[in-house]
Amino acid sequence: MVVDPPKTDTKGVMAVDPTANGAPALGSGEDQGAKAGGCCGSWDQVRRCLRANLLVLLTVAAVVAGVVIGLGVSASGGAEALGPARLIAFGFPGELLLRLLKMIILPLVVCSLIGGAASLDPSALGRVGAWALLFFMLTTLLASALGVGLALALKPGVAFTANNGTIGGTSVPKAPTKEVLDSFLDLVRNIFPSNLVSAAFRTYATSYASKTSETKQTTSCSWREYNATMIQLGCEEEGMNILGLVVFAIVFGVALRKLGPEGELLIRFFNSFNDATMVLVSWIMWYAPVGILFLVARKIVEMEDVRQVFIGLGKYILCCLLGHAIHGLLVLPLIYFIFTRKNPYRFLWGIMTPLATAFGTSSSSATLPLMMKCVEEKNGVSKHISRFILPIGATVNMDGAALFQCVAAVFIAQLNGVSLDFVKIITILVTATASSVGAAGIPAGGVLTLSIILEAVGLPVKDITWVLAVDWLVDRSCTIINVEGDAFGAGLLQSYVDRTKTPSSEPELIHVKNEMPLSPLPLAPEEGNPLLKQYRGPAGDAATCEKESVM
Ligand code: ASP
Repeated sequence: MVVDPPKTDTKGVMAVDPTANGAPALGSGEDQGAKAGGCCGSWDQVRRCLRANLLVLLTVAAVVAGVVIGLGVSASGGAEALGPARLIAFGFPGELLLRLLKMIILPLVVCSLIGGAASLDPSALGRVGAWALLFFMLTTLLASALGVGLALALKPGVAFTANNGTIGGTSVPKAPTKEVLDSFLDLVRNIFPSNLVSAAFRTYATSYASKTSETKQTTSCSWREYNATMIQLGCEEEGMNILGLVVFAIVFGVALRKLGPEGELLIRFFNSFNDATMVLVSWIMWYAPVGILFLVARKIVEMEDVRQVFIGLGKYILCCLLGHAIHGLLVLPLIYFIFTRKNPYRFLWGIMTPLATAFGTSSSSATLPLMMKCVEEKNGVSKHISRFILPIGATVNMDGAALFQCVAAVFIAQLNGVSLDFVKIITILVTATASSVGAAGIPAGGVLTLSIILEAVGLPVKDITWVLAVDWLVDRSCTIINVEGDAFGAGLLQSYVDRTKTPSSEPELIHVKNEMPLSPLPLAPEEGNPLLKQYRGPAGDAATCEKESVM
């Protein structure tokens, strides 16, 4: 396979040229010097600093403005005064942002993972992947432990008062229920989608229906006997099966790499596709503040009686938000600092725009495009790392979800007067870590897998309703922590790759050449395989280019 001579800086680190793919950088020209908040002295420097961080400032301002406008509209009558049509129009700019981000997820995840897996040599792939998974698992376990600890200390469920499915007169939604075994089987089924095209917009899910219902005749779901009165339905539901696509893309990338020169053209195709997608992302980013403002404002306007819900579930909300704040502002930054000796808060500043997007959209998947752009351009994470690790992180690493699930489980136990012994607490920790992997990076993805934990420790699944009532808020801070964990994972891996490489050593990460001449020299007929292409080296020496063997 033909490879780029790796660009290394003085430490032997792969040099990252943020604009190498032709994408407009987030801060251009002189602004690049003031990356990730590193400013400011004279007026000139202040101006440069503001310009470099303009998008971040706009996004944070958008969140604040969204809250203020939302509260203002609520105070003047809210959703009722606006009416359904005007409410839709009011939220339309936000809806547009969500559509744009969702549009970009599929090409981004598939192309970046295929390109990423194909550009890492298999041993590096294994090592980088193993470190990433270890980091993801440990931080999720820490988040779970923090959640359990806080809930046991603050006891949010002890003084909770609820009656007949309402909190202070506000009705709460019904909880979905599903067997633990079926949840895990669905997870595995989704890892191996039966149809790749339908995986782009459908996910497998098991549900139950009464034998007397018309469901089995009217749907295309497969069904089987469940018990005396119920049937079990296996249906393909609306929603991208991102887990299946991630697994397929990684394996496909590895297979392409194994093909050697034969796979090169396709790798270049996916790399170019990915680069073009990132250009689109950089354009969408400038629309993000407008979209976020209206997403936040609309959510606030739609809320019925926020005050009553807060009074009823205030302690539970406090527990979750406090846990997320501790994990996001202390635990993750501390881990990053210990391993890299770099300022974690500067790193956080660099990803402020995606964090605000996570708050606005409640979706890790929707935040992925902006996160990739920012960690590459603001935090100096190389494309090889970010495009491989971030899609995986957005799919399987959910620190925020694990933390809130643990708080919720302890809360529901306290609500029902169930005391939690050591074994139950360990069960909660382990199942929360595992079920957060299965949680989709979409709004309320974590609540849906909470039933796994409740079933595992014998708590009533119907009590998820209380958690659902405030999930619109908890889910936002949850998503921020989920994506922050992914970004710190990418930053740590970058630092690991930097440290394990010396200027003289063979590079671990090999960039499949994008700028290869398009007209390969034909091989001499006696060299056999006509599919093996050969390229001229800088000195016109064709043999020097045919250097990497098929692995
Ligand atoms: N909304 C979260 C995310 O997209 C998932 C969850 O509900 O915990 O990361």
